[in-house]
Amino acid sequence: MIELPEAAVLVRQLNRIVPSKVIRRAVAAQSPHKFAWYTGDPAGYSALLAGKTMGQAVRQGGMVEIQVEGVVLLFSDGVNLRFHPSLEDTPLKHQLLIEFEDSTAMSATVSMYGGLSCFPRGTNENPYYLAAREKPSPLTEDFSREYFSGLFLPDTEKLSLKAFLATQQRIPGIGNGVLQDILYQARLHPKMKTAALGDSGRDALFSAIQSTLGEMVDGGGRDTERDLFGNPGGYPTQMSKNTAGQPCPACGSLVQKGNYMGGSIYFCPGCQKEG
Ligand SMILES: [Zn+2]
Repeated sequence: MIELPEAAVLVRQLNRIVPSKVIRRAVAAQSPHKFAWYTGDPAGYSALLAGKTMGQAVRQGGMVEIQVEGVVLLFSDGVNLRFHPSLEDTPLKHQLLIEFEDSTAMSATVSMYGGLSCFPRGTNENPYYLAAREKPSPLTEDFSREYFSGLFLPDTEKLSLKAFLATQQRIPGIGNGVLQDILYQARLHPKMKTAALGDSGRDALFSAIQSTLGEMVDGGGRDTERDLFGNPGGYPTQMSKNTAGQPCPACGSLVQKGNYMGGSIYFCPGCQKEG
């Protein structure tokens, strides 16, 4: 899944390669996928894009946005974005293929679910997108300790930390992937209630959000995800499918995998206490 670190890495890589490339044609929804979400009719994508010049990519929360003259391309969730140095390298099945005049290409495929949007700038009212654009990034100064405190409200008290971090777009870019390592670094259990945090717990969570996301971006994304060239990221995840059943580097307890709120959680039973 594309979350904040992966979006940051993709944006960096895209901006080295695609700006100023001219689009020859686009093919959207060629391979049917139940959970590939498009804006409007994907059959109209090529008409929106052909002949236009690729601009800069920017990260919006955990989304990758590319300006293409007056049109915006937006990728989110489980989209695998790849660059292809030649048309022969493009995948047979894809949910979006963009061919450039120089006979290179970019493809997007969807694993479980993902968004592939293409729309004239200013016309996308999707609340996730708007929240991602408006709220401060945890990697900027605007995301202050004071701002973070403001996210704790009477109705968030009963939420678990996983729910607090991963729902309602409180902090765009944080999803069920990166929150596992954030909570491990803060030594907090995913099922712990926010009401039980206290000031020291909030401090720990705040600094773990910044430090963990910073390390993930600096490392080139998580090692469970792939970049624009299909390579895994260089940040070694501490709490993920890669480490389940392995000893915790801090205390030696075995990393546990659980199911919680419709997804997996990974935690160290020694370092992260629920209560
Ligand atoms: Zn431990």
